[in-house]
Amino acid sequence: MKIIAGNWKMNGTAAQLDEMIAAVSNVATRARVILCVPYTLLRAGNANIMIAAQNVSKFDAGAHTGDVSAAQVRATGATATLVGHSEARAALGDTNADVAMRAQNAINNDLMPIICVGETDTERDLGTGADVVRRGVRESVPQNAKNGEFIIAYEPRWAIGRGITPSAPQIMDMHKIIRETLDEMGFDNTPVLYGASVTAQNVRDIINIKNVDGVLVGGASLKKQDFIPIIENAE
Ligand code: PEP
Repeated sequence: MKIIAGNWKMNGTAAQLDEMIAAVSNVATRARVILCVPYTLLRAGNANIMIAAQNVSKFDAGAHTGDVSAAQVRATGATATLVGHSEARAALGDTNADVAMRAQNAINNDLMPIICVGETDTERDLGTGADVVRRGVRESVPQNAKNGEFIIAYEPRWAIGRGITPSAPQIMDMHKIIRETLDEMGFDNTPVLYGASVTAQNVRDIINIKNVDGVLVGGASLKKQDFIPIIENAE
């Protein structure tokens, strides 16, 4: 089963989410659809769509003004969360170890973490992209995680939100590296999503690349006229 995840970033209202949930629920698809929304919009999903947060705290509770714990997210009815998204890594100064703590808290609270990894344009140009991604997977997956408890999203940071799409061989190479790394770690049941500049036009080609189990969609997940065709074309 392919996975189509949307990331609304800091966009959207409850009314827009109502509309999106209704629209997604009307699509006949075998894909699993996940929508990552701002904290204020979190709620339970339904059989057609999982609702997810965009991050969770490293901490359980206490004096962390502005932070939101995995338990609090789970209490809204949401069932998944992004962790380690490049925008959150940049804003919060997260290391891979920080991301692993967030992912562990998600797992402890029955949330499916979507752990994001990816290289910058500088790292790509220096030829260290593969190492960064390999390390990203090794260090951002919590030590005690079990097979099937998490999802990986490969998001080339030089492409996200810029309308740049890597070539199919670039995506295939990186997904192969991620799959091999997960296999070495003993995780043979972990979906690996591709994310950056996915549209209704390119989703079919991307999702059929070897070792791509789904997509993470930013800008094109905001409007139903963009997101619904992505789900429809992802078969
Ligand atoms: C993202 O930020 O997760 C993302 C994939 O963005 P976009 O699709 O807009 O490149």
